[in-house]
Amino acid sequence: MSIAENLKSIRNTIPQSVTLVAVSKTKPIPDLQEAYNEGQRIFGENKVQEMTEKWEQMPKDIEWHMIGHVQRNKVKYMAEYVSLIHGVDSPRLLKEINKQAEKSNRTISCLLQVHIAEEDSKFGFDEKELLELVENQEFKAFKNIKIKGLMGMATFTDDMAQVRREFKNLKSLYARIKDNYTDFSILSMGMSGDYQIAIEEGSTMVRIGSSIFGSRN
Ligand SMILES: *Cc1c(COP(=O)(O)O)cnc(C)c1O
Repeated sequence: MSIAENLKSIRNTIPQSVTLVAVSKTKPIPDLQEAYNEGQRIFGENKVQEMTEKWEQMPKDIEWHMIGHVQRNKVKYMAEYVSLIHGVDSPRLLKEINKQAEKSNRTISCLLQVHIAEEDSKFGFDEKELLELVENQEFKAFKNIKIKGLMGMATFTDDMAQVRREFKNLKSLYARIKDNYTDFSILSMGMSGDYQIAIEEGSTMVRIGSSIFGSRN
């Protein structure tokens, strides 16, 4: 199936209320253009340099989402244009994003990445760190960032009961923070292999790559 057909069939399985991020990492510009021509306006990338090159070449009405791990020294290269940074996983990174956003006269929207996978190699805050951060007065005072919600990745496994359990945990943490501290509106969870479960468990934003663009090398 073509990229356009893949996109259409995925959109048919996603409720209107769930935002689709087309994850185009490693894929060439013509592939992104095909998705764009099919109406896709939100693209996700996991490397700052690659995203910046694509931003320069693609139409300017695209929202670029950084979904990967971000090194602090790279924030300055995307501060001018990035729409949403999904993978914020440390207070120091948040501080740097605020600083670079200020220099660009912008407010940058961020999601806090939560470590939900039972395997322990993934990035992200644990529950205690997260609750401390959202209550921290220093961070509340940052004017050039807006923390809009949470992002998480489930364990890479065929055990769908485990994946569901991990998404459920993230959803309940999200609901708790939303009720008590902030006006969260985004829960980013779900990829090609698990987005249907993620949506059943309350995802508002799915990040789908290979089911749209084909497998990556
Ligand atoms: C690559 C990636 C995705 C998309 O993965 P697919 O399995 O190709 O849909 C989603 N989220 C993150 C953080 C990624 O790095």
